[in-house]
Amino acid sequence: MRIIVLVKQVPRDFNVSLNRDFTVNREAAQRITNPADVSALAIAAGIKKRYGGVIACITMGPASAAECLREAATAGADELYHLCDSAFAGSDTLMTALYLGTAIRVTGGADLILCGRHAIDGETGQVGPEVSVMLNMSCITHITDITDIRSDTLICNRFTGYETQLFSVKMPAVATVYDFFVAPILPSIATMRKAASLPIKVLTAKDLDLSSVTGRGNSPTKVERVYIKERVRRNAAMLVPEEGIKKIADILTAGIKKQ
Ligand code: FAD
Repeated sequence: MRIIVLVKQVPRDFNVSLNRDFTVNREAAQRITNPADVSALAIAAGIKKRYGGVIACITMGPASAAECLREAATAGADELYHLCDSAFAGSDTLMTALYLGTAIRVTGGADLILCGRHAIDGETGQVGPEVSVMLNMSCITHITDITDIRSDTLICNRFTGYETQLFSVKMPAVATVYDFFVAPILPSIATMRKAASLPIKVLTAKDLDLSSVTGRGNSPTKVERVYIKERVRRNAAMLVPEEGIKKIADILTAGIKKQ
């Protein structure tokens, strides 16, 4: 089985600067691997241990994004791919999915693609489902684990935010993973040694046969403005049930009298 995990490097906190086109200045930020992608890697490592297979990790980003591939290698990735080309800059989710989906095809395809339910910076949660459409695969979002794989079917739990659902999904499939339900794989000296020597294959737009398609030029979404929302001040009061209704009636009556 070939498992692809999509890992994105994200700013560690909101202490980031933006470029003139409102994209994040990623290289200047303090960086981490997106938390949900760390969970996706842990699920992939568990599947590999149980059923065998190969884990390939793909990231798209500037030179610094290679750091998250090294981290992925310590969690058990066997192949590392870095989409790194100025042509990819400024991509919205649609273009990101196009580049990632094409890279998955070019590097050998997948039986299962795991990615985060969302990245903590852009936070649209669109990339995984868009990749599934591009590769014509089944898609399940917000999974917390994969409990079994029977022939070409995944059995997995999905968390909706208030309940857990049990699903069976036909492979090949894309599954987006909920963050923090699975413990991350902690590196050992042996995995760190192996990770340090694992080659990272850099892929450019030319390698994907997409030289004529630039992320900035072909993204239908344009970020027009980024601003901090003004906080609306409200005078809130806590009311205990017994006195609540009478107090609300008094407040409303006082308001009407004022008018
Ligand atoms: P999500 O869909 O939240 O990511 C889900 C998962 O997909 C990740 O956990 C990861 O596994 C995988 N993934 C995503 N990106 C990568 C990557 N580069 N490499 C490897 N795996 C990846 N784009 C829009 O289309 N619409 C918008 O409204 C929009 N608003 C934005 C607002 C701001 C302020 C900024 C800075 C960017 C915005 N973008 C928007 C661009 C968006 O952040 C990028 O397209 C980004 O590359 C992917 O979107 P995301 O972070 O929302 O990914």
